[in-house]
Amino acid sequence: MSPFEISLEAALIEREQMQRYRQRMTLTSPQSTRVRVGDKDLLSFASNDYLGLANHPDIITAFQQAAETRGVGSGASHLVCGHSDYHHQLEEALAKFTGRDRALLFSTGYMANLGVISAFVNRKDTIWEDKWNHASLLDAAHLSRAKLKRFRHNDCSMLERELLKDGSNSNRRFIVVDGVFSMDGDLAPLTKLSTLAEQHDAILMVDDAHGFGVLGEHGGGCAQLCKLNQQQLPLLVGTLGKAFGTFGAFVAGSNTVIESLIQLARPYIYTTALPPAVAAASLKSLSLLQSESWRREQLHARIAQFRDGAEAMGLHLMDSTTPIQPLLVGHDADVLAIAKQLNDKGFMVGAIRPPTVPEGTARLRITFSAGHSEEDVARLLLALDQVIPSDLRRHL
Ligand SMILES: *Cc1c(COP(=O)(O)O)cnc(C)c1O
Repeated sequence: MSPFEISLEAALIEREQMQRYRQRMTLTSPQSTRVRVGDKDLLSFASNDYLGLANHPDIITAFQQAAETRGVGSGASHLVCGHSDYHHQLEEALAKFTGRDRALLFSTGYMANLGVISAFVNRKDTIWEDKWNHASLLDAAHLSRAKLKRFRHNDCSMLERELLKDGSNSNRRFIVVDGVFSMDGDLAPLTKLSTLAEQHDAILMVDDAHGFGVLGEHGGGCAQLCKLNQQQLPLLVGTLGKAFGTFGAFVAGSNTVIESLIQLARPYIYTTALPPAVAAASLKSLSLLQSESWRREQLHARIAQFRDGAEAMGLHLMDSTTPIQPLLVGHDADVLAIAKQLNDKGFMVGAIRPPTVPEGTARLRITFSAGHSEEDVARLLLALDQVIPSDLRRHL
């Protein structure tokens, strides 16, 4: 081994000793509430496919038909020659869906966040981010070289004090949050944040990766739920790989914002466009997600069923009304052991450890889908009752 590899090996061993080693499972089934891993069938409560659309027959057909007529690869970036009619139609449909002038597709949510922040924020600016924001938002702030300030989770008073303290030192000021926090499932106080942004001359950006499709009357996410228009929330990011069940991401905003991103956002300019068939699949998914609200109703009924059952068992639930329902465990080794026991019983549940979450807050990340039946949730509750030790419960 080279000295380089020896040092890498040492770091890998250290990670393993800390119970932080991450491993991939290889699925041989579609993404669904039932998945096959190796020779085992598992009931999954781990994916972000909240509406059960990732394997929907109409979306598969839309994908196949577009692949028949447009092929597979998009061939280039959007600005060179990779922008197809399907991309264009999807952008128009997303603009209408979000009530914005326009929407712009990105290849992933990670890149959309890097794109927006690196395009609009620079060294003379300050960016305030919630401590629990998604990694891509923090990485984006580093890329922008702006002054990054992280405020305590959902603490608007701390943010306000910081904004006041900053005075007019910064050129532009940005407030950036997740709409739904991905490892906790709680919501950002968007109404309050938009008021703060207005009062303190800051620009609000929300990454609503987990809200679109799930929240709001027609699945329009946090912005729809809190009724925030384009002026109040000028930079709105959504992803297509979660409730939409497909792949990709978008930014929705004013004509000027979108036109500026096309000119300036390097993760937009210097990357190959999504395959057109993926855009066609997302178009179908968007139409199902808007018109068939029974999926959202079913999903929220399952979430309520889980919370009632878990409450009755004395489990410590978090303050979440979304499909992300974490159970706090604490130690990394403990969460791994519990996830392993659940796996032995035929369940797939995510064991989330630092650095994804703060030290000492390792957790089971249980997620729900409209594809889960009442019986699926009952089975999960029964299994949790068997594997969650009493010291992790309230005494009833
Ligand atoms: C998943 C996620 C992203 C990244 O989106 P991808 O399309 O998977 O790259 C960004 N932000 C949040 C909050 C997410 O949960």
